[in-house]
Amino acid sequence: MLINTDLHVHSCFSMATSKDMLIKNIAPKAKEKGLQLVGTGDAFHPKWLKIIEESTKYVGDGIYSHKDCDFLLTVEVEAEKKIHHLIFLPNIETARELSDKLVSKNKYSDGRPRTKMSGAEIYDMVKEYDCLIGPAHAFTPWTGMYKSYDSIYDCYGGKVDFLELGLSADTDMADTIKELKDIPFLSNSDAHSPWPHRLGREFNQINVKDISFSSLKYALKHNDIKANYGLYPNLGKYHMTACTKCYKLINPSIAYDNNMKCPYCGGRIKKGVDYRIIEISDYDEPHSPDFRPPYIHTMPLAEIISKIYDKGVTTKTVQNKWQLLIDKFGPEIEILINVPISEIENIDPQIAKGISAFRNKTVHITPGGGGKYGEISFDKKLKEDNSKNSVVTLDNFN
Ligand SMILES: [Zn+2]
Ligand SMILES: [Zn+2]
Repeated sequence: MLINTDLHVHSCFSMATSKDMLIKNIAPKAKEKGLQLVGTGDAFHPKWLKIIEESTKYVGDGIYSHKDCDFLLTVEVEAEKKIHHLIFLPNIETARELSDKLVSKNKYSDGRPRTKMSGAEIYDMVKEYDCLIGPAHAFTPWTGMYKSYDSIYDCYGGKVDFLELGLSADTDMADTIKELKDIPFLSNSDAHSPWPHRLGREFNQINVKDISFSSLKYALKHNDIKANYGLYPNLGKYHMTACTKCYKLINPSIAYDNNMKCPYCGGRIKKGVDYRIIEISDYDEPHSPDFRPPYIHTMPLAEIISKIYDKGVTTKTVQNKWQLLIDKFGPEIEILINVPISEIENIDPQIAKGISAFRNKTVHITPGGGGKYGEISFDKKLKEDNSKNSVVTLDNFN
């Protein structure tokens, strides 16, 4: 069976996370996004484990169910060199035992715990407990594994079960690196809130025998990921090299010449994922192995609606319009990719035009960098036509 799964989110116990990140809120939103399996995140946090126990039913083989949504225990750990590692666990007992070993103190302080251990030490320990591990958002400049290492093997000392691409990279970018040719890629949301433009903004379509920890493990081992769905990488907040204070995009060679100090405001420049991958790549073009699934680029429907109507993405206007479409045609990915435009026009002609532009790749993206997400915008013509409430054909705004 094919399932859609987002395996990296955070609970309400992680820093800078919405207090709504609770199982009872994540489950219905995941369903609307078309996800069957979601990572719990924060599985080393004692209070979060308690909430998981109280609000789900254990159905066996690592799966904790809440209504129609299944959860698998996952945790992101910050280790030596501030590198983030993503771990998948087979059950709560293992989570508690590993948590005791990996996080010696301050276990309650953050859902994303810190340890002084190296990647290799965590790797060895996690393998002892039959868990799965890989770098989280592997290329990002603050906490991605490749910010500190030129080779994934130097960090872990062995072959990881997966590599998480992160929002600022995609398969083609990662497949310019030779050593990744036999490592499966995951695309996860790293959501800190259940809003529809966060949860499930990236996900994986995986072929599994059933929904269970063993089947996920088998699928990763046998390259049964069938598709990665994720943002256009230039929408990610670390895609380009940019200033972390004024967010101006800076040419990497100018950044180096200036000792990573912003020539405009004096702020600190962060190297973009785009440039970091060029530095460590072996090929100019992607060399994808035969098993590598397609990477399908998306953008959050709520953000398209937000731009069309010039209203904030979390406003009632945008959320109500999003909900209307989901109730009629959901899940979201169907609306973005498959539902006939004519049917969407019947509900909301303006949004239909935005989705057409997305499908026809005429949405403009101002690339993200320095910690600021990339932004989408539409042609002025499309927006003007919106105000007149007329339906335009695609040719009209090319
Ligand atoms: Zn992280
Ligand atoms: Zn600056």
